[in-house]
Amino acid sequence: MPDSNPVPEYELLPGHVSEFSSNIKAMHGIDANMCYQCGKCTSGCPLNEYMDMTPTQVIHAVRLGLKELVLNSNTYWLCVACGTCTSRCPQDTGLLQVMDALANIAMKEGIKPKEPAVAAFYRTGLSLVKRFGMMYEAGVAGLLTLKTGTLARDAGLGIRMLKKGKLDVLPHSQNAGEMKRIFERVAQKEKELAGS
Ligand code: SF4
Ligand code: SF4
Repeated sequence: MPDSNPVPEYELLPGHVSEFSSNIKAMHGIDANMCYQCGKCTSGCPLNEYMDMTPTQVIHAVRLGLKELVLNSNTYWLCVACGTCTSRCPQDTGLLQVMDALANIAMKEGIKPKEPAVAAFYRTGLSLVKRFGMMYEAGVAGLLTLKTGTLARDAGLGIRMLKKGKLDVLPHSQNAGEMKRIFERVAQKEKELAGS
């Protein structure tokens, strides 16, 4: 006979935390288990209609330990880190950080990105920040069009932006040494976390 007073799902799940969810909490400090599926994150997400899993579905799947399903979605690659989900969340789950954590895990585990251009953008942008201490937009645009084979499509836009002074042709350098040390400290921290 069905229980006439079912316990709400969010009260049940704390005793039912998946290993995947626990690992994300241990490494990134985000408690996906706090989510009670209200959907406010998804309704505010500007990229939601292009995602194959909504942000609400992603966090639920993380709680359930559906690692393969989540890591093979395009959701966290399309996330633009606008923070709308996090600011709307009544449970303070830190969904934006969940998206970051998923991209990190996918890259470390060599999972083929569902949106290769986005992954290439991260790698290219970070390599230039590491080198110059700050973003070099024209460099990112040039390298990305070469890597993704979109030179013919994007060349016109690049030229228009250059003409309007929106892109600097040459890179600037600022605190490059300090930035290099930050990258080294992050790499060291990641090594320690992987070994712990
Ligand atoms: S807004 Fe927060 S509690 Fe609501 S579904 Fe999204 S992550 Fe869960
Ligand atoms: S941070 Fe990402 S998931 Fe959250 S609302 Fe913005 S685009 Fe959507």
